[in-house]
Amino acid sequence: MIRSNPETLIRQSMARFVDKEVIPRAQEIDASGEFPMALFKRVGEMGVFGIRYPKDKGGSGGNTTLYCIICEELARGLMSLAAVTAMQCLMGTNFLFHYGTEKMREKYFLPAMRGEMIPCFCLTEPEAGSDLGAVSTLARRTREGFVINGMKTWVTNGPVADFFTVLCQTDPAKKLRGLNFFFVPRETPGVSVSAPFETLGTRTTRMSEVAFTNVHIPEEFMLGQEGEGVTNLMAILSEIRAMTAALAVGLLRASMTDAIRYAKERMAFGRPIGKYQLIQAKVANMATELEASRLLTYRATEMIDNKIPCLKEATMAKYFATEAACKAADEATRIFGAYGYSMEYPVQRYYRDSRFLLNGGGTHEVLQTNIARWAGL
Ligand SMILES: Cc1cc2nc3c(=O)[nH]c(=O)nc-3n(C[C@H](O)[C@H](O)[C@H](O)COP(=O)(O)OP(=O)(O)OC[C@H]3O[C@@H](n4cnc5c(N)ncnc54)[C@H](O)[C@@H]3O)c2cc1C
Repeated sequence: MIRSNPETLIRQSMARFVDKEVIPRAQEIDASGEFPMALFKRVGEMGVFGIRYPKDKGGSGGNTTLYCIICEELARGLMSLAAVTAMQCLMGTNFLFHYGTEKMREKYFLPAMRGEMIPCFCLTEPEAGSDLGAVSTLARRTREGFVINGMKTWVTNGPVADFFTVLCQTDPAKKLRGLNFFFVPRETPGVSVSAPFETLGTRTTRMSEVAFTNVHIPEEFMLGQEGEGVTNLMAILSEIRAMTAALAVGLLRASMTDAIRYAKERMAFGRPIGKYQLIQAKVANMATELEASRLLTYRATEMIDNKIPCLKEATMAKYFATEAACKAADEATRIFGAYGYSMEYPVQRYYRDSRFLLNGGGTHEVLQTNIARWAGL
């Protein structure tokens, strides 16, 4: 008898959910531009948000490989849903889980695990993107705790978030060592969120600016030891990059599946276009790059699960898989001819959503710089 392992089981159950409940509604949800609340709640009911956290602390006791399988399957159906799920499981809740007090975990972390609260992660500022050393949002010590002033931007989930994990400077003279994470509930006086940005892709995952004006928070809302913000961020950087690679694998699969189906059906010059070698070459490249992306991605997650440092491997996975997903989405729209330019078929969404993957976890120019250095240049 063949026993199913947890990876196969979770992949099968997510695939069933995506095929039955996500794909049939993906176009309509994307066109609405609304946060996919009903599907998000369904994902919460499946216990998925706690996949990286231990069972005895409110999680569901999985690991990074299972987390990435979930991200991959959801991205195959709707990148927006995959993106908010990825945020809920990792960047949005990680610092609260590890460094928050028991009371904070009860009030915010556990509801987030059930999909009753939405978190977000605020690093980027109008003048600080790739260069985190330029972060200028200031958390000044007071007698009771801290007062925060500054502006964050490109905050995924900003418009709908219930709480924020915010990277702030506590001592500009210390530069990177002065950066620390803070927990800020949305209802705190002085927090204001802009209107959602109009974006090219992931149109139901909304991003916004978040301004902090004289926001007073207690001492225990500093998440982690003072001076260790960047170290604590580095501790999950491999996981963020592996997760982004998994999203790319899911999107690449969607592009390839649709392209193959169309190439079998569409006739030109008396034959299905899939009989032409130039179309076959595109599909061959997609299939090969999908295989390579998968291998890179799940090698990285296996290393993370075995606590083997793998920033290089995760960076290569994110870089390669995302480039492959962007290329596959582009090629799929070409295989669709004029219909690749129509809003009727999902390939246009894959093409737009592929751009979502380029910046998160580091831009590709920054990643290439890192990879070249690791290669010895
Ligand atoms: C869809 C989306 C969702 C996002 N969600 C979030 C979020 O939830 N939270 C959050 O904090 N941020 C978020 N961001 C912001 C994202 O993290 C930043 O876009 C990213 O860090 C890059 O910063 P930047 O856009 O300011 O580009 P910049 O850093 O200004 O870079 C501009 C260009 O210069 C290049 N460049 C910069 N430095 C170098 C260098 N040293 N060598 C070579 N080239 C370089 C970059 O690669 C890029 O091509 C999101 C962005 C997008 C598009």
